[in-house]
Amino acid sequence: MSKHITVLGAGISGLTAAWTIAQRLPGAKISLVEASTAHIGGWVHSIRKNGELFELGPRTLRPTGEAGTVTLDMIHQLGLSPNVLTVPKTSPAALNRFIYHNDTINQLPSSLPKLLTNPPSVLKGLVPTVLAELFRAKISSTQSDESIHSFVSRRFAPWVADNLVSAIVHGIYAGDVKTLSVRSTLGMLWENEQGAGSVIRGLVKGKPPLRVEDFARPDAVEFVKSVQGESIYSFREGMQTLTDALRDDLEGRENVEILRAAGQKVGVTGEGKVQLSTSQTLTSDYIISAIPSHLLSPLLPSSTRTPTLLSQTPNVSVAVVNLAFAARLPISGFGYLVPSSQPSTILGTVFDSDAMPEQQSSPAGPTRITVMMGGHRFPALFPTPDSATPEALRDTAIKAVETHLGLRLDPIVAWNAAVQRDCIPQYIVGHRARMGELRTAVGREFGGRVALVGASYLGVSVNDCVMHARNAGRAVAEAVLAGDGRPVTGLEGLDRLP
Ligand SMILES: Cc1cc2nc3c(=O)[nH]c(=O)nc-3n(C[C@H](O)[C@H](O)[C@H](O)COP(=O)(O)OP(=O)(O)OC[C@H]3O[C@@H](n4cnc5c(N)ncnc54)[C@H](O)[C@@H]3O)c2cc1C
Repeated sequence: MSKHITVLGAGISGLTAAWTIAQRLPGAKISLVEASTAHIGGWVHSIRKNGELFELGPRTLRPTGEAGTVTLDMIHQLGLSPNVLTVPKTSPAALNRFIYHNDTINQLPSSLPKLLTNPPSVLKGLVPTVLAELFRAKISSTQSDESIHSFVSRRFAPWVADNLVSAIVHGIYAGDVKTLSVRSTLGMLWENEQGAGSVIRGLVKGKPPLRVEDFARPDAVEFVKSVQGESIYSFREGMQTLTDALRDDLEGRENVEILRAAGQKVGVTGEGKVQLSTSQTLTSDYIISAIPSHLLSPLLPSSTRTPTLLSQTPNVSVAVVNLAFAARLPISGFGYLVPSSQPSTILGTVFDSDAMPEQQSSPAGPTRITVMMGGHRFPALFPTPDSATPEALRDTAIKAVETHLGLRLDPIVAWNAAVQRDCIPQYIVGHRARMGELRTAVGREFGGRVALVGASYLGVSVNDCVMHARNAGRAVAEAVLAGDGRPVTGLEGLDRLP
């Protein structure tokens, strides 16, 4: 009898998992269940307004590392290599990054000599602090995690956490350095202290280089290596090119159905099968859940431990304001971030037209920027629905950027403002231990037939989502081929994380 796999959620994680299984199990039936009737791709969402490309979610990807290699391999297999736009390592968008601090835009040095000879005001005093870090005692081996703020204050100084690291964390997690786990968000820092006794010593020592051949198929190796020679990349029509290509590929396969329905209930049957209820009941050999953990939690039997653990990862909302205007920016680069020490409404601003000029409607097209607001401060900054209408968000963003950069964003030729509710999971202190407990619970309570993938668990970047979803898809396909009912949880990769 043919096997049936259900994948819940068609964001980048669910699409990747379904695509991986569809390739490996052409004889199995695959149901991909997506609640949204308007959009496939989850937070990956690119639109054009007045001809200008706006990203409502992720905008660029890093090509390096294992996860970066896996994503590029998939891009190549989907035939998207010609659509990739790269940012050269020598371009201002790769070299120039800024931090807004004490009413000043500070350019971060792009090299160590520049940091030593001419540090910006936000980094004054960094050199002695970094040197002192080399000699700080290692944390007790009994402590298994701590907040980013506590870690950076202990190894460097509190001002480094407040003025520098919190800005970087705003750019990735829109989160609070005082609650986020250093081990699960900036794992390399934690690993360096554990392994080399010091963050800086670990950085100097470096990591053994990754062999592209180990993570990309032979026909993709040349393409992957060429993109890895660049800084970051996207696509001419934006990030949604990737999710659209996955959707198109799946729609073209006879054994795949994409159901536009909300998953309402997940359970196990007596015969070692699992069930997902939507408007119909889907009985399958495995379910891969690729929806955020707080949305999966209420779908599971409340008598089990798994839903409690799933509900313990909070999420933050981000207001994303895209602006296109005729004025030119006074500085060129990737954009600027605002640290938590500053009373600003915004987390950071990306200079999209500097990074991806090829996405412009015309070579002399307008300046495009994206302003991110809210995150861990969202409830305080936008306490009422009125304060978060699209027009209110647009005006707040314009006012902040005009103050920070000292220019008038006139005239605005296109704009979009959206509140992305609960869009970024927060890996708070203890996340790794909770994921360990979750792996045990979901394996035990669902017979190893429900696998968890997506941004809630082992990494929030698109690359991490792709890699873990691909691995879970492969594990499910191997289990089906082996026919031995072996368990899959999706969280197998936890052991390879710091
Ligand atoms: C504003 C923003 C900017 C970002 N920038 C970057 C960046 O530049 N680079 C980067 O690498 N990462 C970035 N990220 C992170 C990255 O985009 C996300 O972590 C990733 O896209 C999450 O994908 P996912 O498939 O795991 O989840 P989601 O995108 O949340 O997909 C889940 C899907 O499940 C569906 N769903 C939910 N409930 C149900 C249900 N009950 N039944 C059926 N379907 C359901 C949803 O409709 C959705 O389609 C950004 C994220 C945001 C929000």
